[in-house]
Order: sequence, then C-alpha cells, then structure tokens
Amino acid sequence: MFVEDEWNVIEDGFDADRHLIAESVFSIGNGHMGQRANFEEMYSGKTMQGNYIGGVFFPDKTRVGWWKNGYPDYFAKVINAPAWIGLHTSVNGKLLNLAKVKIHSFRRTLNMKEGTLSKTCMVEMPDKTRLRIESTRFVSMVSVEIGTISYSITAENKACSLSVLSFIESHILNQDSNYDECFWESISQKHEKNISLAVDKTKQNPFGVPQFTVATAISTEISVSATKKKYHKHLQIGETIDFELKKGETAVITKYAAQVSTMNYTADELPKIAVERVKTAAKTGFQKLYSAHKKAWSEKWKRSDIVIKGDVRAQQGIRFNIFHLQQTYTGDDSRLNIGPKGFTGEKYGGVTYWDTEAFCFPFYLSTSPESVSRNLLLYRYKQLPQAIKNGEKLGFTNGAALYPMVTMTGDECHNEWEITFEEIHRNGAIAHAIYDYVTYTGDRAYLVDYGLEVLIGIARFWAQRVILSPIKRKYMILGVTGPNEYENNVSNNWYTNYFASWCLRYTMESISWIKRVANEKYIELAQKISFEEREIMRWSDIVNNMYLPTDEKFGIILQNDGYLDKEPLTVADLPADQRPINQHWSWDRILRSPFIKQADVVQGLYFFENELNEETIQRNFEFYEARCVHESSLSPCIHSVVASKIGDEEKAYALYLRTARLDLDDYNKEAKEGLHITSMSGSWLAIVKGFAGMRVAQNELSFNPYIPKSWKSYSFSITYRNATLTVKVSKSKVELNVTNGYIPNLQVYGEAYQLKKDEHITIETKKK
Ligand code: BGC
Repeated sequence: MFVEDEWNVIEDGFDADRHLIAESVFSIGNGHMGQRANFEEMYSGKTMQGNYIGGVFFPDKTRVGWWKNGYPDYFAKVINAPAWIGLHTSVNGKLLNLAKVKIHSFRRTLNMKEGTLSKTCMVEMPDKTRLRIESTRFVSMVSVEIGTISYSITAENKACSLSVLSFIESHILNQDSNYDECFWESISQKHEKNISLAVDKTKQNPFGVPQFTVATAISTEISVSATKKKYHKHLQIGETIDFELKKGETAVITKYAAQVSTMNYTADELPKIAVERVKTAAKTGFQKLYSAHKKAWSEKWKRSDIVIKGDVRAQQGIRFNIFHLQQTYTGDDSRLNIGPKGFTGEKYGGVTYWDTEAFCFPFYLSTSPESVSRNLLLYRYKQLPQAIKNGEKLGFTNGAALYPMVTMTGDECHNEWEITFEEIHRNGAIAHAIYDYVTYTGDRAYLVDYGLEVLIGIARFWAQRVILSPIKRKYMILGVTGPNEYENNVSNNWYTNYFASWCLRYTMESISWIKRVANEKYIELAQKISFEEREIMRWSDIVNNMYLPTDEKFGIILQNDGYLDKEPLTVADLPADQRPINQHWSWDRILRSPFIKQADVVQGLYFFENELNEETIQRNFEFYEARCVHESSLSPCIHSVVASKIGDEEKAYALYLRTARLDLDDYNKEAKEGLHITSMSGSWLAIVKGFAGMRVAQNELSFNPYIPKSWKSYSFSITYRNATLTVKVSKSKVELNVTNGYIPNLQVYGEAYQLKKDEHITIETKKK
C-alpha cells in the first residue's frame, strides 16, 4: 500500500515482493521517452528493466499456430532501449546490492506536481558501514532528449572508500520477445573526453521496416575530490569514480544523459548530437534543468488538475491518472501516440489501439492546446494509405480503409485474429474522434483539409463490409468481435452495426457541408481519391436499412445475434472465487458464458446518447451492467459515465473508484506488468463527463453537475475554444469562472449563460 497524499505517491519501507509493482507505479516520462522506476544501484532481486523511446520499435515476427491469409507479419513493439541510469557503488571494495544489504529505512516518492522520482534510504553493508543515499531523477519535459539524476551518498557512521560506476547498459532484452531474441546490436562504444557514448541499432528484419539507431551519451560529476577512470566492458560503457568519505561527509553525484535516435536525426549525425546535448545539459546544471521541468509541469497542472476536497484517496487517485496521461503523451509529434501501458511496461508493445480515440481523446481535447488532439488525428490521417492497404490485404477495394486495431506505423500488427483483428469497430472510434474534435473546437477546417478523406476511406470500408441479407432484406455485418472480447466472431454486434451506420451518416453530412462551403476543395479531394457521388446513394441505402438487433421480450438492444440464447445468468450469480473469470475459466467456457468483458452495448449508449431516448439508455444500462464483469480496465469508467447520465449516483461512484485507483491499489493484480495508461483517461471522463455532466453540442458547452456523497467539493479546468473555464462543484453550489477568453453559449442545468473573461457565475447545486 502506498501512503495517501494529495500530490505524491509514497512507498515507505522497501518490500521486495512489491518492487515490480512500484517500478511501474513510479515510472517517469516526458512524452518522448520514459522509464520504469528501476534502481540506479545494483539490484539482483526481481526487476523488470524498462527504458523506452517513443517511436523506436522492432517488428517482432508473429507467432501463430495456423497461419491464415491476412495475418499481420509482425507485431511492432516499442522496445526496451539502452539504459542510462546505472550508478553501481562499491563500498570498501564490496558491491552495494540493494537486494542483499540491510535496509534500515527506505522511502520512494513520485512527486506528481514536479514530475520527479526520488528515493532516500539508509543501507548497511556487511562490514557495518552505513550509508544514507538520496536520489532524485527526471526526464525533462523541456529538453525532451535529456534525463538527469542527482545522487548523494553520506557516510553515516564511519569513513569509507567508495567507487561509483556510472554507465550505459547496452545489453538489453525485451521480456516479451516472441522468439527470445535480442532486438539490438551494438554499433560502437567510446569515450569522448569525460563523456561516454554508446550507439546501438535495432537488428535487421525481413519486413522492410527501417532499423532504428539510438545514441546514448552520459556525463557524470561529483562534488568531492575523486579519481575518475574510463570503464568499458562488453556492452557497458562509462567511468568509475573513486573517492573517500569521512564520517558524516556527503558526496553529490550528478549524472546527465542524452538519448537521441533516428526518429529525428540521421544515423551519421547521432553520436555528435548526443554528445552535444549531454554537454549542454551538464553546462545548464541540474538545478536549472529542474526549474524548467517544474515550470512545464506546473503549466500542465494549471490546465488539467482536478481538485477533490474531502477525500485524499480520491485526490491522489485522479492526480496519479492525470500525471501518467500527461507524461505519456505530450502531443508535439504526430508520429507518436498512446500505448495502453505508456512507458511503464512491455505489455501491448507500446503501440496504438482504439483506446486512443475511444477513451483518451476527450481528455487531451479539453486539457491541452488544440494542436495536441489535432496531432492525434493527424497520426491517423498520415496512416490512411496503410489503412487502405490493410483493407486491400483483406480483399477490399476502391480506397476502403480499415484502420488497424494495433499499430505502430499504420500496418496492422496483432496476431490474435478472432479477438483483436476482428474488432473492426475501431474504425468507428477513429471517425468519432474527428467528430469530437470538430464539435469541441469548432475547427471545421480540419474536416476540409484532412478529416473528410479519412471519413470517406472509413465509409467505403463499411459500405463493402456489410452484406444484404437475402432473408431479412437488411444490411448486416457478420463475423466480428465487438468491444466485448469474451465473445468472438459474432454477427450483428449492435455496437459495430450502429457505428457503421453512424460513420456513413457523418460522412454524408460532412460531404454536403463541405460542398456548400468549400466546393473546390471537395472537387479536388473527390478527384484525388476517385470519389463518385453514386457511392453516397449506396451509403444512404445502408443507413436506412441497417440491421440493428433488438429483443422485444426484454425490450432491449441485443448485443449480437444469439446473445440471449446464453445461460440467463448475471454477475450476481458468479461466485467471488471464480473472478476474474479470465484467470479461472477456460477460454471455451468464457466464450459460451453470458458474461461481458467490457462496455459493449453500454459503449454505444455512451457514444450515441443523443440519438437514444433516456428510457432506452436506462433499460439497457441496467440489463448489461448486471452482466458485465469489467475485466478490461476500459470498462468501469464508461459504465460510470452512463450511470451518472441516468442518475444512478451510487453506481457511478462505485464504478469510478474501480478506475481511479486501479493501479495504485493493484485491483487487477497486474500492475507489475505496467500501468493501465489508456484507462486512466476514464477516471477523468467519469468526473468531467459523468459527475459534472459536461457535453458539447451545436456550439454549446453544457454541464449538469452533481457531487459524490463522500466529497466536499471538486473542481477542474478545461480549455474550450481559447477560453479557460474552471468549474467547481460543492454540496451547495456550482461555480464557473472564465479566466481567459469568452464562452458565448453555456448551459448549466438547462439554463443558458454567457461568460466573459474573469466573469463568474454561481448556481445552486441540484440534487438529482
Ligand atoms: C481490451 C481492449 C483494449 C486492449 C488494450 C484489452 O483488454 O479488451 O479493448 O483495446 O486491452 O488496452
């Protein structure tokens, strides 16, 4: 258990059994690189080395039993990169191994306000020498290629001789390599005066994926007089720093590292750039780098903090979520995206899933400059050619785009056909993010310049993927997996069918709007992609005749054909000792059970609430919530938002709690593999869209807030069309304050308001 604190996550006392969890929880990053909280010291206990550079990946050859046409050739993985944090200390000739020495006190802190990871500990060597160690490290939010550590050693009880090895480790393996291969080869290791430099390159691959080269440079300073010697061993390069400490004396070691890659430079120039960067960092110094880093974090918090009064656990939980989202994706490079585990572990390969658009997008849209969410859209825009190729690989033609479920550069790279691959619903979320962006920002120019081309590619896919049932005379979509991965290869998944139809409608609406306001651009695009108006006729026919399964007897939407043929059980019938079912049951048993992994119909209620009446939302929510085991971290948050919508406050809060402290409390017993970064946005959604009821429609921003019983108040800021709005909800009143810009159309509890800069309104909080 971590200490409860509003701004910090604190581990008080070392617990080797929880070290892997702590390594994930205390991870740090800056959107371009990030790392698990591995120790700087030698540690022979259980650890998972983790240092990742955004965009630097390896195409790991797919491993499947029965190869089927259309399978992806490789699974892209953002791979573990050479590690620069190592500071291995020998005390009177004996190596300090944190797994072996006596630890008298230990405290590890993730300072979320300032973006640092620090540790203080008192250790005792076998010869009874006691040392106090204090370290603080961060990867800079400002100089994004730089990481630094301030590391001090105090001789607590007696004088001692110390030797610190400061090095780069290039012998790096990925735990999840399909064939236990090492993905790196060392190109060179050398010293340039007092700088150590390692150049490593990803191995050749048979898939035509470019190899990446990474150059890592380190420089280390010490505050006491010391003898430095160059160090070079197989795949390790650095220097040893020998010095003496008297009793009570402290030495401060400062390590600077620069890590640059062929993502941004040519291989030839890399070594020089790495050396220059690290020199500049050392010249700038730890304190100045730290001040700039702190300032950047303070800007981020100004835009995105949520303050909860009356519940420290809730406060810590939400800040933890926001902190990780902010350090995973910073939105200044449209080639980067948000891996489900961010920079905190290897699972899911650090690549992009539908999670980005379906869950994370609204967070960045409301809490970051517009360019950040726009870059998320551009990421998909740039990958449109590959999405069309993915479609062609499966037999689609005429520019039909099937975006991958799992990707790095646009190619599909997952190897679970029936589960991930058949989840073609992802095309819907990608189109919906365009809608979200345009609706929220009012930036319709995006539709003209980029959005429509993506929408048409997606619409063409749906128009070819449907079949017209000769029996029902309705359009159907067969052989898919819905968001509920506990039922595969189903037909007429309502969510997928509804989304297909919505995409066609939105594309048609967008075309008619663009024809009105920018016809020349429309003609240009139509020529570029050989778009013919008669395609629209087919789309309308599909929209008008799409099969959307429902069940008359229960009066519900039917998740997919055959769902009600399953055993009529609810989650209440499931013995506690059989949950989570994915750890207790065979896959066969899961597939034939009625239990739903994650929001599926409810995911549709969430997206399309405007098109469904309240009674439909309520009835279906109740039916499906009773059957949902929430075994994906992406599930409780969506159910929570819908529960808030229908006024089920208790349920909404209970579901919110499952999301917000999921990793801090390790509910799913898997935090050691890395954190659930993409579902962290769900906590934000549950508060802002759920409790505060924020919506944007037709150029109007609206709120319908309530406050969870155990909270005294909560407040958050959003950026909405150049205005900064703070919303504070307490038991008695709702306060809205514009500190920047102007909000002409605002609604709270259905009443219209206008807010100018520095204007403030206060309204009585409604009880639901
Ligand atoms: C969920 C998917 C999700 C993936 C990555 C799976 O467990 O079922 O919906 O895309 O995790 O977060």
